[in-house]
Amino acid sequence: MTEVIDGNAVAEDVRESLRGAIETLTDAGHQPGLATVLMSEDRASATYVSMKQRDCEELGIQSFHVEVDVDAPANELYDTVSDLNANDEVDGILVQHPVADHVDYEEVVRRIDPGKDVDGFHPENVGRLVRGDPRFRPCTPHGVQKLLEHTGVETEGADAVVVGRSNIVGTPLANLLARKADDGNATVTLCHSRTEDLAAKTKQADIVVAAAGVPELVDGSMLSEGVTVVDVGYNRVDGEAVGDVEYESAKEVASAITPVPGGVGPMTRAMLLYNTVKAASQRSGIDVDL
Ligand code: NDP
Repeated sequence: MTEVIDGNAVAEDVRESLRGAIETLTDAGHQPGLATVLMSEDRASATYVSMKQRDCEELGIQSFHVEVDVDAPANELYDTVSDLNANDEVDGILVQHPVADHVDYEEVVRRIDPGKDVDGFHPENVGRLVRGDPRFRPCTPHGVQKLLEHTGVETEGADAVVVGRSNIVGTPLANLLARKADDGNATVTLCHSRTEDLAAKTKQADIVVAAAGVPELVDGSMLSEGVTVVDVGYNRVDGEAVGDVEYESAKEVASAITPVPGGVGPMTRAMLLYNTVKAASQRSGIDVDL
């Protein structure tokens, strides 16, 4: 029987596990706070931001929100980030991607206080992750690791294939899975659009993580019996949410697989809350169990 990995249930576990830490921090006078910044007219981005605010409210994390007009000069966004850096009530800052076309998103990320960079995208935090000492794990890769852990999938010694090398998903995940740690120690192959014979790579894997943004790129014929499949992809095809894995054929051969929706998506949101609580603990010096 193939196990369908329930991302909603694991995300709920993560949220529940944060309640004690949030209470401890709040009782000690440091309620965790997350600031979201939106500089976009994209409706999906506005929805993501409002879901993140709702998640915060449900757990007793303070939420702050700033909207910057899409026509405003880049400096207005930089000033917003500076203000949030200086605001002691704000532990985490998330600038929703994409921002207006005339603004360099990478420059915005560089201006976020690395101690408040709960996305884990600041170069200092990327460097720490690559050196094996992450301050904040980027939310989606961390969510994937949590799903593997909850499913009882051993990464040590496993052959893991990550399809996609973006800075927000594939590359940090490959680093995390390969690092010398209990939830790492995998032998990782990082594939991308120039990879020759993707199927030959995925076929030899114990764990396949698809994060390419190509609907149903990986199908059952490319997988070996007993593989664990994590589908990060989220694509809209004819109004439907479709992953990067062809679910039905992959499910035939996999021992465990994440659905889309209801797999990685809820985990990304949950791990943002985790990073916010971690930031609050680090900034306040109050130790909590995480
Ligand atoms: P990017 O577009 O930034 O990166 C895609 C990566 O996939 C690139 O490295 C690209 O290679 C590679 N790729 C593209 N086509 C192929 C192919 N045919 N074979 C092998 N590799 C290929 O995407 P993201 O990392 O931002 O997102 C990936 C997917 O995950 C998207 O569907 C996105 O919506 C989803 N996503 C879901 C999240 C969630 O919470 N569920 C969160 C974040 C993303 P190259 O580098 O050569 O161009």
